[in-house]
Amino acid sequence: MKNSFKETKQMLAEQERLAKEHLGESSRLVVDYQSQLEREFGYPIVYQSLGRNGAAGTARSVWDQNSACQHHSIDLAPDYPWLEPAHRAHELMHIELECRAHAAGIRKSHVAKLSSRTSPIAGLEFQEYGELFSHGYNVPVDMVVDRTVMERWPVLRPAMFLSAFRFQTANRKSPVSRLLCSPKFFDSIRALRAASALFTDCSYGNPSNFFRTYRHFPEGKLGQRLYERFTSSYPLKESDGHYKLADAFAEALGLPELHQWHAQTRSELINSHSGEIAGDSSKSVPSSAAHSIGE
Ligand SMILES: [Zn+2]
Repeated sequence: MKNSFKETKQMLAEQERLAKEHLGESSRLVVDYQSQLEREFGYPIVYQSLGRNGAAGTARSVWDQNSACQHHSIDLAPDYPWLEPAHRAHELMHIELECRAHAAGIRKSHVAKLSSRTSPIAGLEFQEYGELFSHGYNVPVDMVVDRTVMERWPVLRPAMFLSAFRFQTANRKSPVSRLLCSPKFFDSIRALRAASALFTDCSYGNPSNFFRTYRHFPEGKLGQRLYERFTSSYPLKESDGHYKLADAFAEALGLPELHQWHAQTRSELINSHSGEIAGDSSKSVPSSAAHSIGE
């Protein structure tokens, strides 16, 4: 145990050294990436406050904002300078996924605010539904985002590892209590966390083995199946593949109605600025038109 702790500490120190060493290159590539997206898809990307609800970052595409807005938005929490390029690349990749889906005429939004404070899924509290809605979207889509970022720019991997390590450690320190939630919520959140832990272990060769916490539980087995759904879908074959993956996760969790999409045809998409604010996902509110990373 002592050795493993020492090994982990050494690995973290080494990744931090690498992230600092490559900060200049990482910062430049993210600036270039943003310019490329702006040129290719035609909207500026603006950094502004979006009300992150404590998440590390949020991205909101132009199509999920009100009619006056003519830009994509990103909101990042302050962090160590050597981690920032990786956070920016992550949020920019969310924007890219939405731009590609839009360009193909198959972009979707989640339905706008629910009209009552009742969960649309039997057996779940409204708050539980909100959390599952958010994690049920973020976990699979973040796998797509992070795997794409690390393959495209290996230089960002050390910073990504440090962020993932911090995220998984926070999860480990705040376990979900079976006594304080419904069985459906407990099983589903634990399975999503297990899948996310397995993604981190498989992506970075993590000596802390975050999946170990879940391995011997039914939710761990379910989490493993979720992760396998990701690996069999990646790289995505279609521009709406990230929505389909989120739906596949929801179905595997036994919550096929979790994501209620606003289906849009191409002409509706072009005119969508006159509509309501339709959402991607957020930390806890089901339809606040934001994507969040972190918890
Ligand atoms: Zn994300």
